[in-house]
Amino acid sequence: MGYFPLFHHSDQLYALIVGGGKVALRRAKALVKAGVACDLVAPEYVPELGELIHNHGGKVMLQKFDPQLITSAYGLLLAVTNDHQTNQIIAQQGKAQGLLVNVADDPTAGNVIFGATIDRHPLTIAINNGGASPVLSRLLRQQLEQFVPQHYGHLAKLVGSYRSQVKQVLPKESDRVAFWESVLQGAVAEALFSGQHKLAESLLQQSLQQADKHISNGEVYLLGAGPGDPDLLTLRAFRLLQQADVVLYDALVSDAIMALVPDTAERIYVGKRRANHSVPQHGINQLLVEHAQLGKRVARLKGGDPFIFGRGGEEIETLAAHKVPFQVVPGITAASGCSAYAGIPLTHRDYAQAVHLVTGQLQDGRIALDWPKLAVENQTLVFYMGLKSLPVICQELIAHGMDPNMPAALVEKGTTQDQRVIVSDLSNMPEVMTQETVMSPSLFIVGRVVNLHNKLAWFSSERDDS
Ligand code: SAH
Repeated sequence: MGYFPLFHHSDQLYALIVGGGKVALRRAKALVKAGVACDLVAPEYVPELGELIHNHGGKVMLQKFDPQLITSAYGLLLAVTNDHQTNQIIAQQGKAQGLLVNVADDPTAGNVIFGATIDRHPLTIAINNGGASPVLSRLLRQQLEQFVPQHYGHLAKLVGSYRSQVKQVLPKESDRVAFWESVLQGAVAEALFSGQHKLAESLLQQSLQQADKHISNGEVYLLGAGPGDPDLLTLRAFRLLQQADVVLYDALVSDAIMALVPDTAERIYVGKRRANHSVPQHGINQLLVEHAQLGKRVARLKGGDPFIFGRGGEEIETLAAHKVPFQVVPGITAASGCSAYAGIPLTHRDYAQAVHLVTGQLQDGRIALDWPKLAVENQTLVFYMGLKSLPVICQELIAHGMDPNMPAALVEKGTTQDQRVIVSDLSNMPEVMTQETVMSPSLFIVGRVVNLHNKLAWFSSERDDS
């Protein structure tokens, strides 16, 4: 069962609490604090609970629950008696009458549950993990409590009172995002966090007077998205992505990264698969220019690093030729990400003093590479786009004198939840690859460092990948 988070206006909610124990008291405290009107029905109750309800203008009914007590005024029913069976019956009756129902000892019997909350009024953060682990929610809440300063509430209140003014000055959403990001992460926030409310407000007014510097005339962010794990996206790439009006992305950009794209941004898939280019490169270059010339902030998300076999260079050449401003944000390239997650150090004092990043792309069935330079000891070779050409790579390396028993690894979908590491050697890998039906994207690593995988992968992560 899933949950959908909504925040209810507290002054438009009227709750009936059924039950008079400690759980009822805890719930009542939370509701009353948020401004929800509450009545109580229970044959007996802890005195503090009765007082609380009474002091907040609620009715206290000293009796057993009776379905007739439910009137159309109530929106929320809490079944918090100490009897499971009774709670079930109350829940059924409440749901039959279309109420929001929460059952203390059985989240599935009702239709709403309470989350762990962090209250920085008017800022509220609620956490729910579907009842899987209240302890996990509590731990997360503790972390967030430390992370979200107490003054965040004041900050929210202050910027909230300027929202409509800013909207008038900056009608375009992405310009406003840029404006608010600078306010919320700059001097205004710092002043508030140190308790200087007046200073914060005057700094905000100053920023508003200079708001036009946030008006974009079109710009492109060439963002390295990393190899898949969203935790490997850089902070800078994440921040710029949040400001984008439009996002052009590749096949290599993982779903987990795409989930970080703001809902307001238009998404354009320009993925390329071998021999099946959905948008040819010059078309992508052109799209970037066109969108930027419309004044948009364009995020060009590319798997790994934009400048490592990413054709990022061609894209920015076109942008430069059209005088479109751009920023390039490096990403973690597949070689770094896959090797780290597979426990294969690319260099090692004893085994590899150099590392080559090599394209394995075939041209007319051949790979034009300097094989004698590659087929030597004491270095690591990392082949990108080398899946189809893997048999040719192995053949050429052996033909140019490399040890046929040289260890080799294929890392499939590296750094993602589906990562697989297949270890073999040069002479056997072509066959192993076929047996294992290895899929794209995969990275081919050749060198003595691969031997360290068995030793290191075991300890370096909890992944079950080999
Ligand atoms: N710019 C990218 C590389 C693009 S070339 C980067 O810096 O990583 C595409 C090749 O990268 C794929 O054919 C594959 O060899 C490799 N690759 C990219 N992501 C990968 C991943 N998550 N796992 C394994 N290989 C990957």
